[in-house]
Amino acid sequence: MEQSVDTFLKEARDFLDGHAEHRPDGFPDAMFAQFRELPDPEAWRADCVAWQRLLYDAGFAGLTWPTEYGGRGLPSAYALAWADLESEYDVPRGLLGVTLEMVGPTLLAVGTAAQKSHCPAILRGEEVWCQLFSEPDAGSDLAGVSTRATRTDTGWRVNGQKVWTSEARHAKYGYLLARTDPEQHRHPGLTAFIIDMTSPGVEVRPLRQMTGGASFSEVFLDDVELSADAVLGEIGGGWAVAMTTLGFERFSSFGRSLGRLVRQASELGWPDQSTREKFLDAVIDQRALAAFEAGMHRRLVAGTPPGPEAALAKLATGMVVSELADAVAERLGPRLSLRDGTVDDWRLVLLSAPAFHIAGGTDEIVKTMIAERVLGLPRG
Ligand SMILES: Cc1cc2nc3c(=O)[nH]c(=O)nc-3n(C[C@H](O)[C@H](O)[C@H](O)COP(=O)(O)OP(=O)(O)OC[C@H]3O[C@@H](n4cnc5c(N)ncnc54)[C@H](O)[C@@H]3O)c2cc1C
Repeated sequence: MEQSVDTFLKEARDFLDGHAEHRPDGFPDAMFAQFRELPDPEAWRADCVAWQRLLYDAGFAGLTWPTEYGGRGLPSAYALAWADLESEYDVPRGLLGVTLEMVGPTLLAVGTAAQKSHCPAILRGEEVWCQLFSEPDAGSDLAGVSTRATRTDTGWRVNGQKVWTSEARHAKYGYLLARTDPEQHRHPGLTAFIIDMTSPGVEVRPLRQMTGGASFSEVFLDDVELSADAVLGEIGGGWAVAMTTLGFERFSSFGRSLGRLVRQASELGWPDQSTREKFLDAVIDQRALAAFEAGMHRRLVAGTPPGPEAALAKLATGMVVSELADAVAERLGPRLSLRDGTVDDWRLVLLSAPAFHIAGGTDEIVKTMIAERVLGLPRG
């Protein structure tokens, strides 16, 4: 019989207390890890992989994934309870975000049995994946992807360039969106593929971000050969596969992690009236976001999948990060540029803030989606 959520949570807390530091008021490092300048990216990779393996061995990985693919087959209430609890601890997270939250669920939703068989290795942390969607001329306008996959006797040959590919340099596999029908310039000409990132013709060039981190890469694909069974979903059905994935991406919940950031910020002291008011506006919005997400979680547990609400939460997350970053920047003033180690985390938050308005669909695109699909306003 399935254990109750309360019993599960007690076991989860015992596990986390035994393996991680409980810092509900500490800096939410997992939320900003991908932007940080890492002295040793390989060491970080190893820490993230080891943590995932530990979770798997203890039965805390893939809580909602089917048991035949290495998961626990539990209802989403358990995964949400775990995520809430884990957000109070310092754990090495970030490397496997795309793999666990987007690729794995997509494979489970549309993959063949052979493609789904990657899932246990994913849960054990043995396979890092990346998402090869964006291109220099196709970001918001994803249907404009021009990377070409042409048929060969044995499968497909791929040529093109991707950009902003998170964690590509650590990835063993990629989930690629390419154009298979050049006659179709938009959605119907696209197909999703699985690509081995060690294949001849794949070149990964890391890009340095303004935060100092280098989690993104440009990926060049030059006559990369794929077998016929690399197709994910239907040939010409890449748009539907991509939309399935982006649905998973928009359902992230950062409200509680932002609560940690608020508590960090309150320690700065806010003697000046106008900066204090800005900080308090950010605190109010963070509380509203956390309450909104809690309601979304309750509805999810009751069986209502997240729809447009997830887009609203995504917009609000970017807003709260920016409000907090701006208030802290005003509070610290020129001190924020000191490289003495005292303000590094805040500089990281300030320089990472724009990314929360871009990743997974820019604010403008998300607002258009809400206007058209939620409010039913006329299409622009
Ligand atoms: C942290 C982070 C991680 C990412 N990881 C990945 C990844 O792993 N894989 C991947 O494939 N991509 C990734 N991306 C890329 C991301 O998906 C794109 O940056 C995003 O979709 C925007 O595309 P773009 O950068 O080409 O901007 P553009 O689409 O060129 O947009 C430029 C500006 O124009 C505005 N704009 C564009 N079209 C419209 C319109 N129709 N109406 C109103 N305004 C518009 C945009 O809002 C934006 O302000 C990541 C980005 C970030 C920040």
